[in-house]
Amino acid sequence: MRLSKMHLKTLREVPNEAEIPSHILLLRAGMIRKLVSGVYGFMPLGWRSVRKIEDIIREEMDAAGGQEIHMSAVQPAELWQESGRWYAYGPELWRLQDRNGRDFCLGPTHEEIFTDIVRNDISSYRQLPTNLYQIQTKYRDEARPRFGLMRSREFIMKDAYSFDKDQAGLDQSYDEMYDAYEKIFTRCGLTFRAVEADTGAIGGSNSHEFTALSEIGESEIAYCEKCSMAATVERAECVDAFPENNVARLPMEEVHTPGTKTIEEVADFLKLDKKQTIKALLFVTYDNEGKENGYVAAFVRGDRELNMTKLVNALDIPEHAIEFADEEKMGAATGCVGGFTGPTGLHDCMIVVDSELPGLKNLCAGACKEDHHLINVNYGRDYEGDIVTDIKTIQEGDPCPVCGAPVKHIRGIEVGQVFKLGTKYSESMGALYKDENMESKPIVMGCYGIGVTRTLAAVVEQHHDDNGIIWPMAIAPYQVIITVMKPDDEIQMQLAEKIYESLGKAGAEVLLDDRKERPGVKFKDADLLGIPIRITVGRGAADDTVEYKMRRDADKEEISTEESIKRALKTIEEEK
Ligand code: ATP
Ligand code: MG
Repeated sequence: MRLSKMHLKTLREVPNEAEIPSHILLLRAGMIRKLVSGVYGFMPLGWRSVRKIEDIIREEMDAAGGQEIHMSAVQPAELWQESGRWYAYGPELWRLQDRNGRDFCLGPTHEEIFTDIVRNDISSYRQLPTNLYQIQTKYRDEARPRFGLMRSREFIMKDAYSFDKDQAGLDQSYDEMYDAYEKIFTRCGLTFRAVEADTGAIGGSNSHEFTALSEIGESEIAYCEKCSMAATVERAECVDAFPENNVARLPMEEVHTPGTKTIEEVADFLKLDKKQTIKALLFVTYDNEGKENGYVAAFVRGDRELNMTKLVNALDIPEHAIEFADEEKMGAATGCVGGFTGPTGLHDCMIVVDSELPGLKNLCAGACKEDHHLINVNYGRDYEGDIVTDIKTIQEGDPCPVCGAPVKHIRGIEVGQVFKLGTKYSESMGALYKDENMESKPIVMGCYGIGVTRTLAAVVEQHHDDNGIIWPMAIAPYQVIITVMKPDDEIQMQLAEKIYESLGKAGAEVLLDDRKERPGVKFKDADLLGIPIRITVGRGAADDTVEYKMRRDADKEEISTEESIKRALKTIEEEK
């Protein structure tokens, strides 16, 4: 492809809305184009890289026994009502009606559709197992679309669904997908970790997220260097230590603590460690129709973070059915007092106590009275929970839930997730098969997603420098760029054409920068676009020499034209 003919517009300036490198660079390199918030289009170079990722995914999915199909993005509400997710999925589900007022949604994922296919097509154990997948556009009306392709409202996903006779079959299908995912992300050039994850709105028992390591990632992983434990912080279990077994319970006392609304303020005022305090978080919940359903007060140790995923799991409600309460309104109903709420003296609300608190003695908590706290508060005697369970987020240094060594945290981008769904959908939607004894059984399912466009962004996060993108060969839009210093110079242009032709004939994907621009502009663009191999044709053309440079390396070399072609083809072969 000749750059002079390509529809390409690169930007010198950093676009206003972009904050992270991948978003900035994909926009600056003219690879993506924003339409509205969270909705992007792909320009020629960007689309080539998307298709390369898709091809890698196809190859590995096919090799693992998957069969590609393609379902509609438009899905009828009835299927979602059958599975119970028309409500459970919440406002992220992009709903629409046809002209007759019939409800539909734009698919955020396709469990219902694929379950519907197999319940119609599969009746016997002889037809199992099977694995169907598609690469398709998904829609999620995200509350905060951001970071370009990372969290968009329209994005490309590969979603696969496995159907097995029993749990053992599912375990095998899951392992095969897990292995395929490792191959896919390795081929895309990502440094990643597979970690245990929560199952969220998708449901099921078991799940792993594939997380590309990156400081800007929205996933936080807790991992252990001593054993192989690695889990998202939403998921990672906290092991409670009970260090104060021999401490006597002191009598509870009310103390005057004027103006100390935060944990920091009260700990400072009473000269306590935050670990000796109880933090309250107040919520209101909603029912299926979106009506207020009651209040929840959650309590964790003062230095802890409440873990919303664990809280909604404990309450067995969807994430969108709970939000922070209006303290005044809640106060009138339950006796809580903003900034001074503790578990003692609350009424008419669900009290959820973190599992660590019952083991800790003589804590300080709000007194449910303006400007007052209680000290020497003890579980059992002074307060109780309707639910007592782990609702805190694991912190760095907390004991590993598997081996007890201190855990570490690291951030990353979730690029894929695999789930053991079990029979959640086959039971609610009646996807049954007859086994060897003609007995009817629910099909055992797994589902497996990869964010194709998010993967593209994650690769750029891991492969760039101040000047631009540094594509790994396998998903680079082109493999070689030939930069001609002076396209008006006949010798230079002829040599460039010769290299362009030889490389092209040998199967390489080559860009020829034949634009009548200053060399400085061309070099800047070549760096920005991130094509892995650059061959510069300049003054040396008269002696049949060119400059050869890898985008990832700083140094360049003068070599013969023939050598440059040989080297480029060899590198492509090794790295593609
Ligand atoms: P997240 O936790 O980031 O919202 P998710 O867990 O809801 O994602 P899944 O339902 O597991 O996402 O979807 C499968 C894959 O689709 C994810 O691993 C991710 O790579 C991609 N994905 C999900 N939401 C988005 C989005 N808004 N924009 C781009 N890619 C997305
Ligand atoms: Mg996920």
